[in-house]
Amino acid sequence: MPAKGVLLVEMAGVVVAGGGVIGTAIAWRAAVAGLDVVLVDPADGQAASLVAAGMLAPVSEALFGEGALLRLNLLALRRFGSFAAELEEATGHQVGLRREGTLAVAYDPGDYAALIRLTAFRRSAGLDAEELDSQACRKLEPFLAPDVRGGVLFADDWSVDNRRYAAALGEAAGSAKVRSVRDRVLEVRVRDGRARGVRLAGGGDIDAARVVVAAGCWSGTVGGVPDALRAVIRPVKGQLLRLRHPAGVPPVIGHTIRAIVRGTDVYLVPRADGELIVGATSEERGPDQTVTAGAVHDLLHDAMSVLPVTSELILAETCAGLRPGTPDNGPVLGRCGPDGLLLVAGHYRNGILMSPVTADAAVALLAGQVPAPEWEPFTPARFTAEAGSR
Ligand SMILES: Cc1cc2nc3c(=O)[nH]c(=O)nc-3n(C[C@H](O)[C@H](O)[C@H](O)COP(=O)(O)OP(=O)(O)OC[C@H]3O[C@@H](n4cnc5c(N)ncnc54)[C@H](O)[C@@H]3O)c2cc1C
Repeated sequence: MPAKGVLLVEMAGVVVAGGGVIGTAIAWRAAVAGLDVVLVDPADGQAASLVAAGMLAPVSEALFGEGALLRLNLLALRRFGSFAAELEEATGHQVGLRREGTLAVAYDPGDYAALIRLTAFRRSAGLDAEELDSQACRKLEPFLAPDVRGGVLFADDWSVDNRRYAAALGEAAGSAKVRSVRDRVLEVRVRDGRARGVRLAGGGDIDAARVVVAAGCWSGTVGGVPDALRAVIRPVKGQLLRLRHPAGVPPVIGHTIRAIVRGTDVYLVPRADGELIVGATSEERGPDQTVTAGAVHDLLHDAMSVLPVTSELILAETCAGLRPGTPDNGPVLGRCGPDGLLLVAGHYRNGILMSPVTADAAVALLAGQVPAPEWEPFTPARFTAEAGSR
C-alpha cells in the first residue's frame, strides 16, 4: 500500500471510502462486475470488522420488534455460503466457516424464563429451535457447567473467522484490480449536484463519478453525506476477548454457546485453529476504544460460570471495537445527497453476516438495478423523510 499522503491515484470509476468488510466486499464485487474501483482507508487498525466475533447468527440474534432485520439477516445467511466459497476459490484461503449451530443456555431460573420467552418469539417467526434440558445440553457440550439450567439449540446459525474472512476479501479485491489508497476521505466533492470524487486528508483529490461511503461508524464524519444522515450512525462499543489453549489444541466446544448468566449475555465462539472468542459488551460511550478491567472481569466471570474450563486457557488478546449502530438497529443502504453518492453503513451487530448481501445490493445500485426486496425497509430515506417531517 502507498504511504499516507502520497496520492498515486487521481481517477476512478468508483471510489469506496472505508476498507472494513463492508467497503472491501463492495470493492471486490464491483471490480468483478467490471468497474474501475479505488478503495480508500487509513488502515489504522480501528475497523470493527477485525474485532468482531464472526457469528453468522440470524436465528439466535433475532429480537422482538426486528422482523424486517430478521428477513434481511436470513437472506444474508442464505447468501454467505456461496460468497465464501467464491472467496476461498479466488484466494486459495479458507475463511473458517462453521455450520454447527448455536447452543443457547441459561444459568438460573430467571435466565431460563427469558430464554424460553425469546424462543417462543423466534418459533412464532418460523425459526427452528429445539429445547433441551440440562442433561441434553451437556450431552451436546460435555464441558458445560452442571448448574446450567437448560438450553435451546438453534441449529441454523453459522460462524466465520472474521479476521481470515477480512484478509481474504482484501486479497480478492487486490486480485480483481481494486486499487488501495491508504488515507482518510475528508469529503465527497460535488459539482452541479453530482458527486465528482473525494478529497483526501493527506492532500489531493480522486475524481470519480460515483462514491460509496462505507466507513462503518465513521460514515457520518465524511463531508458531503447529508446532515440528516450524519447523526444517524453512532459508535456502539463492544469489548471482546480471545483465549487459547496452552497446547494449541482446538477449543473444547463445537457449537457457538450463547449464555444468559444472571440476566447478562455472554457468547463463546470456537475457531478451528484453537481460538475461543468471548464477547461482548455493548456500551454507549462514543468513540472510546479502551479495554477496561471491569469488562474483562465480567466477560471471564460469565464465561467461566457456564464453561468452567475457560479458566485454564491463555488470555491471548483483549480488544474493543465500534459497531456502527442506527436508531432502529438496521443498516442504511442507498442513494442520498448528490447524484452518484451511495451510503452503505450502520450494520451494527451483523455486519460480517450481511457483508455479502450488502455487496450484492451496492453493486446492483451502481449498475442502476434494484436490490433484493429485503433491502426496501433500509434505505436512507427512512431517516431523511422523518427529519423532513418534523
Ligand atoms: C465486539 C463486536 C462483536 C461483533 N460481533 C459480530 C458478529 O459476531 N457477527 C457480525 O456479523 N457482526 C459482528 N459485529 C459487527 C461487525 O463487526 C460490524 O457490523 C462490521 O464490522 C461493520 O463493518 P464496516 O466495514 O461497516 O465497518 P468497520 O469494520 O468499522 O470498517 C470501517 C472502515 O472505515 C475506515 N474509515 C473510517 N473513516 C474513514 C474515512 N473518512 N475515509 C476512509 N475510510 C475510513 C476505518 O479505518 C475502517 O477500516 C461485532 C462488532 C463488535 C464491535
